[in-house]
Amino acid sequence: MSAQLLDGTAIGRAMREDLRPQAAALAARGRRPGLGVLLVGDDPASAVYVRSKTQACEELGLHHETTLLPATATTAEVLAVVERYNAQDEIHGVLVQTPLPAQVDSERVLRSVDPAKDVDGFHPENVGLLVQKRPRFVACTPAGIMEMLRRSGIAVAGKRAVVIGRSDIVGKPMALLLLHADATVTMCHSRTRDLAAVAREADILVAAIGRAGLVRAEHVKPGAVVVDVGMNRVTTAEEARDLLEPARQEVFARKGTALVGDVHFPSVRAVASAITPVPGGVGPLTIAQLMANTVAAASAR
Ligand code: NAP
Repeated sequence: MSAQLLDGTAIGRAMREDLRPQAAALAARGRRPGLGVLLVGDDPASAVYVRSKTQACEELGLHHETTLLPATATTAEVLAVVERYNAQDEIHGVLVQTPLPAQVDSERVLRSVDPAKDVDGFHPENVGLLVQKRPRFVACTPAGIMEMLRRSGIAVAGKRAVVIGRSDIVGKPMALLLLHADATVTMCHSRTRDLAAVAREADILVAAIGRAGLVRAEHVKPGAVVVDVGMNRVTTAEEARDLLEPARQEVFARKGTALVGDVHFPSVRAVASAITPVPGGVGPLTIAQLMANTVAAASAR
C-alpha cells in the first residue's frame, strides 16, 4: 500500500483563493486587510518564512509592512514596534516572527500584541478562548491542519488522535482542536514511555517534534492518517540516504541540503493511508491560515 499524498500546496492555494472575494470586498469598502510583520535578527530560516508570508499577502492583494530590527534589539525596542502596529489603522494583523533573540522577553512581547490583531493566536486571551471552545484567532499551523483534514474528507469525530509534541504554537492547540472536533486525544512528549506503542493507537497521528525522521513505520498503525509538521534540514549524506526517497537523494547530491519532516517518509508512506509530505505539506497550510486570520481580523474590525 502507498499512502495518499495530502497536497498542502494545492489545499493551501484553494484556501487562499477562497479568501479572495472577501478580501476584495473589504478593500472596496476601504478596509484592505493588512499584516504588520516584525522580524528581529538575521536567522535565515525566519527570513524565508517572513518572505513567504508577505508574498502570500501580495498575491491576495493584502496590505503588508515588515519592520526589521537587529539581533541586538532590546525588549523595549521590540515592544515599540508592536505598539506602533497595534495603533495603526491599516494593520489588522500583527505577526512577531519567532524565535526572538535570547535577550528579548518573548512572553512579554506576545502579550503586548492587541488580542484583536493577534493573527498568530499566541496571546493568552486567544489561547483561553480556544481552551473554552470559543475560538477567535487560533495558531495558524494547527488551524490549517484542521482545515486540510476537512477539505480532504477525513473525519475526526470518534477517532483516536495522537499528537507528538506539546509546544504552545503547535502541539497544545492541535490537541485542543482535535478534542473539540470530538477525537479521543493523547498528547506525547519527550518523557512519554514507549512512544511507538502509544503512537500506534492513532487513527490520526500528528508529529510536531523537530527531530528528522523520528516517526517510523513501527509508530504507525496500518491505515492511519499521518500529519508531519516537522521542518528539519538534512546536511549529511548518511542522513540523506536514510531519510530521502531516491528521487530526492539526487537533488540532495546536487544541493548538499534538503528539508525533511519528523516522519520517516519512505517507510511510513507504505503503512499510512494518507500522509503530508515535507516540503509541500503543512507549511503552505500555515501560510494560508495566516491569510485567513488576517482577513477575519479586518472583517471583525
Ligand atoms: P518545540 O517547541 O521544540 O517542541 C517540540 C516538542 O517535541 C516538545 O514538546 C518535546 O517534548 C517533543 N519532543 C522532543 N523530542 C521528542 C522525542 N524524542 N519524543 C517525543 N517527543 C519529543 O517545537 P515546535 O515549535 O512545536 O515545532 C516542532 C517542529 O515543527 C519543528 O521542526 C518546527 O520547525 C516545525 N514547525 C513547522 C511549522 C510549519 O508551518 N510547517 C510550524 C511550526 C513548527 P518536551 O515538551 O518534553 O520537551
